[in-house]
Amino acid sequence: MTDFFTDAHDRLRTQVAGFAAAEVAPRIDHMERTGDVDTGLARLIAAQGWIGATIPREHAGMGAGHVAKTVIIEELSRVSAAAGAIAQASQLGVAKLLHFGTAEQKQEWLPRITGGSLLPTIAVTEHGSGSHVLGMKSTGEQTGRNTWRLTGRKAWIGNSHLGGPHGVVVRTGPGTRGLTAFLVEGDRPGLHIPPHPTMLGLHGFAFGELHLDGVLIPDANRIGEVGEGLDVAYSSSILYGRPNLTAVALGIIRAAVDHTSTHVLDRRRYDGPLADLPTIRERIGGMEGRLVTSRLTAYHAAASLDRGLPCDPDLMNAKHGTTNAAMTSVREGLEIHGAAGLVAGQPIARLYRDAACLRAPAGTDAVQLHRLASRTLGPHHPEWSARFPTPVTSGPYHPARTRPAGAAVPA
Ligand SMILES: Cc1cc2nc3c(=O)[nH]c(=O)nc-3n(C[C@H](O)[C@H](O)[C@H](O)COP(=O)(O)OP(=O)(O)OC[C@H]3O[C@@H](n4cnc5c(N)ncnc54)[C@H](O)[C@@H]3O)c2cc1C
Repeated sequence: MTDFFTDAHDRLRTQVAGFAAAEVAPRIDHMERTGDVDTGLARLIAAQGWIGATIPREHAGMGAGHVAKTVIIEELSRVSAAAGAIAQASQLGVAKLLHFGTAEQKQEWLPRITGGSLLPTIAVTEHGSGSHVLGMKSTGEQTGRNTWRLTGRKAWIGNSHLGGPHGVVVRTGPGTRGLTAFLVEGDRPGLHIPPHPTMLGLHGFAFGELHLDGVLIPDANRIGEVGEGLDVAYSSSILYGRPNLTAVALGIIRAAVDHTSTHVLDRRRYDGPLADLPTIRERIGGMEGRLVTSRLTAYHAAASLDRGLPCDPDLMNAKHGTTNAAMTSVREGLEIHGAAGLVAGQPIARLYRDAACLRAPAGTDAVQLHRLASRTLGPHHPEWSARFPTPVTSGPYHPARTRPAGAAVPA
């Protein structure tokens, strides 16, 4: 694992873990009990500058790359998957600007995102389309040379209730080249955000609806060319959504191991701790094994992005593998807790509900496996990671500046 991390990554990990313990942990009880969107926590996370992890320094970002981003999301998610989800959703919202934004758009938006005053989103999904992105019904029609009118409803949009700017993809013409992306500021007339529904898990994180009722948008807010919306959606989902959700899953797996091992060491049965029972040890061993594999898979994929290597299959496999591993480990953890795990407020019960929320976004299992099968069986698609290689080439996060061999990695 040391190959993936520089000293700067280690310092970042310590910093985020400290923040999570001091600022996130005390909020969990309230978020769990009320299910309310925690806008204060989102603002606090944004104020750290972490949404700018992959934003280049010339745009006031951290210029730290995907490994650093994974460290941030993992450490937040280890304490609260909702906090990790908040961080990942707006970093996902950054992708479209990095890949498709004009020089003026980057100049205007990226420093404000890094500064923490804006939490961008990417809004693709609708109730009637989901995995079938091209089935979307929201429309954008040109009302003059420089204005578009956007109409439709987006669903399950990460950080929906935090003001944007929202990166909305709508249909502007027929076929696969008939989608276009626009930036919609949170205060645009005609944009309505209905109350957030209570979800199964990730309490505190917003993933609700955006209603576009004839929102007028200047052409200057168009991201990419007319007809490039599918590319905007896919590149965001594949290059950011997949590694980001992988990182949330990794944090959940670590938390499941931590809470379950504490439980089996404390809980006494048959004159000794539960940890003495061979079947319990075997199940804890399985959880630890999934943690080791998930960590390797997650950081290998993120490091490949930072090195500018083509790695789409690694990203798909990481999302598929770690979210499955998280589901298995939280189920094992819950069963090992017995009835005690079912009490409201128990961390393992929260982790169980949170892990279930990672299955659908950035491609369901079926979608990841379908794409992986295409690698073997065809049809073969060009890799998004080859089209948008963004290696970290300088600064303290540059992989060449690794710690001396043998130096310790923080736990
Ligand atoms: C926590 C969370 C955060 C999210 N964040 C965002 C966001 O920021 N932006 C955004 O735009 N969206 C977001 N989404 C929405 C997410 O992208 C969708 O949930 C996802 O695209 C799947 O769509 P769906 O849920 O409608 O499921 P569906 O597409 O309806 O799938 C239902 C079932 O059918 C299966 N299925 C679908 N297609 C196929 C196929 N071709 N072959 C075989 N089986 C198939 C699926 O695997 C699944 O089991 C988020 C969702 C969640 C839960």
